[in-house]
Amino acid sequence: MRERSAVLACPRCHGALSAEGPQTGLIRCAACGPYPLLGGVPILLADPFTYCAQFRDSILATLAEHDLADRTAVAVIDAFSRGRGTSEVFADDWTEHEATSSAPPTFAHASLKKLAAEAKKNGPGPWLEKKLAQRGTVLEVGCGAGERSEALAASVDRLLIGDRSLRAVLQATRRVRLALEDDAQVEGVVLDAEQLPIRKRALDCIIAENVVDLLDAPEDFFAGAHAALKKGGSLLLTTPEPSLGSEDDSAVEHLARQAKFKVVQKSDGLPWVRINSSRFVEVYLVQALALRA
Ligand SMILES: [Zn+2]
Repeated sequence: MRERSAVLACPRCHGALSAEGPQTGLIRCAACGPYPLLGGVPILLADPFTYCAQFRDSILATLAEHDLADRTAVAVIDAFSRGRGTSEVFADDWTEHEATSSAPPTFAHASLKKLAAEAKKNGPGPWLEKKLAQRGTVLEVGCGAGERSEALAASVDRLLIGDRSLRAVLQATRRVRLALEDDAQVEGVVLDAEQLPIRKRALDCIIAENVVDLLDAPEDFFAGAHAALKKGGSLLLTTPEPSLGSEDDSAVEHLARQAKFKVVQKSDGLPWVRINSSRFVEVYLVQALALRA
């Protein structure tokens, strides 16, 4: 067996992982046991058994969509799900144009046009991309359909694309590989943001766009991110809910400081315009934080 990755680690003990094959099969921690490797994507969750049982049919459908549902994949999923399955579907939340990489609908009304143009120029997306001057090994947590991944991959040395949904990881990695000529520096991984499967001090930067407000234990994410980053590495995050459900819009910042991050920059009120259709538009005012480990 060969060592799988210099960056990815066991989500339980953060030890090294080795793989039996390049695409499908198992990836193994010597201390904790095996994890599934499906369509080239390791499922690095502390409890891969529940995940495979919970999403069995959705995993198979996703692999079939990408022409990756071979016999080995089915055998691995069945071994981990132990024949049980609850047929839950991945909770991917994508607008049509996010999923298909097409241009969003445009507006006839001048004020909406202006708002969409302002968000495109000064919204959270451009804020994140500008901050990524620091090259190196970067982890994107919560890739969704890969809208941001594509821009990130073009400006960093090595990109790890992570999400809890296998469907999202395969979609985002395919999108990046289609856009890039050299795909060697892109790797997908199914992960839990609260238990990052990353070796200690392995990353130069972590990007978490609109992720922290969705977590049950955001403090665990900050602790894991701090451990995964090199000294001086960056955590760049955005959130439409910096209060985390409290009255205090500094709640996310407080958690970051508790985890020993230094706040390098805080920008608030960045317009995020989410165009679901020509008649349904969501506008969020987002807080963005640049943090240093
Ligand atoms: Zn382990």
